Amino acid sequence: MDLQELSYRMGYYMYNYDHFTYVHNAGQTQFVDIDLTDKACRFCGKHYPDVKFKKKAHAISELAGNKEFVLRNECDSCNGFFGQKLEDDFSKYLGLGRTLSQIHAKDGVPSYKSRDGKTRIDFTNKGLVIQDTEGSKNIEHHENYILFHAVRDTYTPVAVYKALVKMALSLLPYEQMPFFLDTVDWLKEDSHLSSKYDMGSYQSMIERYVPGPMTLQMRATGFIRKSNVKNIPYYIFYLEFANYSFQIMVPCVCKDELFSVKVIPVPGADETGGPSYGTSKIKFVDLSKKTKVKDEPIDLCLGYQTAERYDVAGITIDELLNKEGIILKKRLDINEK
Ligand SMILES: [Zn+2]
Repeated sequence: MDLQELSYRMGYYMYNYDHFTYVHNAGQTQFVDIDLTDKACRFCGKHYPDVKFKKKAHAISELAGNKEFVLRNECDSCNGFFGQKLEDDFSKYLGLGRTLSQIHAKDGVPSYKSRDGKTRIDFTNKGLVIQDTEGSKNIEHHENYILFHAVRDTYTPVAVYKALVKMALSLLPYEQMPFFLDTVDWLKEDSHLSSKYDMGSYQSMIERYVPGPMTLQMRATGFIRKSNVKNIPYYIFYLEFANYSFQIMVPCVCKDELFSVKVIPVPGADETGGPSYGTSKIKFVDLSKKTKVKDEPIDLCLGYQTAERYDVAGITIDELLNKEGIILKKRLDINEK
């Protein structure tokens, strides 16, 4: 870790931005603040009874493991629209990571099966059980970590970016929403393929993958540019959960001047020390593609403290689990297609 560089980044965000933070806090619901006397949906502006507010709207996707951040001013129809249009792509982007990071979504931790049928991963009462067949090239074993070579299901990059923008707008202080009317309008466009907006210069993200069994507490931070500062993006959104951190610029057409797209990585919780399980990987991901991406390879690293190996020649994995008293937890399957 380069301390000088880290302190530069900390200073950059401290001097140029005001920030707000939501931290996952052991099971307590945290409502995003709003004025409940005049309840309007923050995404369509409509009021009850023109729209309903019956569904529980998650400010951060449940797929990322959010159970606490709840939005009270997202109407059921906007909630349905975003869920249908964006969630699935976000889920596919995470792919195998949902299993490896043991992210507890609504339906539990998904099981994973590789496309060639040689590798299977289940979440159990004793942690992850990884079944790998001889001759499989899906897994590389290292001293205290395993490297997985997997494939993502077909997904649309711009939808992943939009899913993150939607989360960023969900947590944004309500009084800022008028500056993001174009952004909401763009999010609600029916097709990803054609748009009346040019959001091209925004649509990328800084992704960090932090291997290791001590996963990051969910934390979402928004950085809003201070009023005396110019020429840098108005709103930066940063989300940490499990082994991931995602950082995006949120489009704000009315506040952003021309800025050179030099994005400074937000200092992450993983950068303050702690044990290392393989190296943290940071990468710039272009999410501007509007069409589907097929068969994208994804390499993920799983660090561990203890592992037991079994040679299961002659018995099935289910027989082994039975013998060892390992119980599969409720799950939802991810099969590489
Ligand atoms: Zn609405």
